[in-house]
Amino acid sequence: MYTVTNPATGEVLEQVPNATDEEVRADIERVHRGFAHWRLRPVQERAAIVLRAAELFAERAGELAEIMTLEMGKRISEGRGEIGVVADIFTYYGEQGPALVADEPLKIRGGQAVITKEPLGALLGVMPWNFPCYQVARFVAPNLVLGNTILLKHASICPRSARAIEQVLRDAGVPDDVYVNTLASSRQVPSILADPRIQGVSLTGSEAAGISVAAEAGRNLKKAVLELGGSDPLIVLDTDDLDATVQATATARMRNCGQSCNAPKRMIVMADIYEDFVDRMTKRVAEFYLPGDPADPATKLPPLASVAAADEVAEQVERAVRQGATLRTGGRRVDGPGAYLEATVLTDVTPEMDAYREEIFGPVVLVFKAGTEEEAIAIANDSPFGLGASVWGTDPERLRRVAARIEAGMVYLNSAGGSQADLPFGGIKRSGMGRELGPAGIEEFMNKKSIRL
Ligand code: NAP
Repeated sequence: MYTVTNPATGEVLEQVPNATDEEVRADIERVHRGFAHWRLRPVQERAAIVLRAAELFAERAGELAEIMTLEMGKRISEGRGEIGVVADIFTYYGEQGPALVADEPLKIRGGQAVITKEPLGALLGVMPWNFPCYQVARFVAPNLVLGNTILLKHASICPRSARAIEQVLRDAGVPDDVYVNTLASSRQVPSILADPRIQGVSLTGSEAAGISVAAEAGRNLKKAVLELGGSDPLIVLDTDDLDATVQATATARMRNCGQSCNAPKRMIVMADIYEDFVDRMTKRVAEFYLPGDPADPATKLPPLASVAAADEVAEQVERAVRQGATLRTGGRRVDGPGAYLEATVLTDVTPEMDAYREEIFGPVVLVFKAGTEEEAIAIANDSPFGLGASVWGTDPERLRRVAARIEAGMVYLNSAGGSQADLPFGGIKRSGMGRELGPAGIEEFMNKKSIRL
């Protein structure tokens, strides 16, 4: 079942049965047939449709934000912000896409060649619930411009977002065999990947899902892009305004109720400011991030996306404390049917504890103390993940020096947890492989064909 449950109240609002195997095969056939004509449309036409989708997303921002609030508890203002980014991604690829897929002349020894940029075919997208519209946009906008067609399997808790996205694309002029929202279950994903009509897969989600999809893609020799979990380090080297640093870093961690892949989940603070940082962070988290209705614009801490998600994070915090971490504030589930968890600060987490290495996907700040710059870098890199990172301080050269030593796909200086249409996004190590957004994002499912003239 695809089930809509309001995480603020626990009320089940809608249940939609999964597609049968036969329906999934029919969905695959549609996008396979769609590729035959979509790839032949001039790129300017495909780009114009993508630009029209950008306008429609912007027009429907309020409606889409309300759906996300009901389905996964996103604060209404954050939902509107998310659609702003979605519109920007569609605009970026609509405007820049044709140049990014233009032929590239190449001088070779003894002659001349040209590299043409061609689509691969029908692709599968498997998407998560944490940014129901933004995650889909990152995969769909570049591939539509390139000429690929898309079968989209969204997370089972957000079928309304999935339908609303499909409607925007339809209204923008995307033919109904070019983008298809399938109600396949995750158990049907292996058979979709085994189907010769599907040429590749992009999954954004957990490590477990990544392992399974990568294995199936490998077994079937299909290209896979994996955008997986993270436990991003945030290093504070020094500051000339500790309150501002605490406020900005707390905001980055608490965005989307802590359920962002590239949220700064591990804050690493130099010893001389550590105690002050922890005191002020604890006060900020305890006093500012109070649970409330996500539909109320004044709310600072919405529910997590589901009761299961809230229980899991509460269990991780409890286990960390049992293993010896210090709970500075929060950590408890809030009484009632909603998926609320108090905003939390943990310190004294050591390498023997699970919390040191696992991803905590909720409103939980971990703070570590580093005696030296070397030690800060060592803690930052001592993680199975390598998605993003950030370095904070007052000396630009020092920031660049430290950034160069971080094992991650992205490093931000004096800001954290961001994303923008023209900047490639993606990780290394167990955070996945491949890139989305920017020029790199349109190249993942591209046949760079060499033609020797
Ligand atoms: P998830 O449970 O892995 O689900 C993501 C998608 O994968 C859903 O559509 C899910 O379907 C499907 N899925 C789950 N198990 C699968 C399997 N074995 N085979 C095929 N498909 C499977 O992840 P989530 O809880 O929605 O999302 C949170 C995770 O995503 C976090 O770890 C977060 O860090 C990561 N994330 C990464 C990025 C990035 O860019 N690196 C961005 C956002 C989120 P059902 O819903 O039907 O189970």
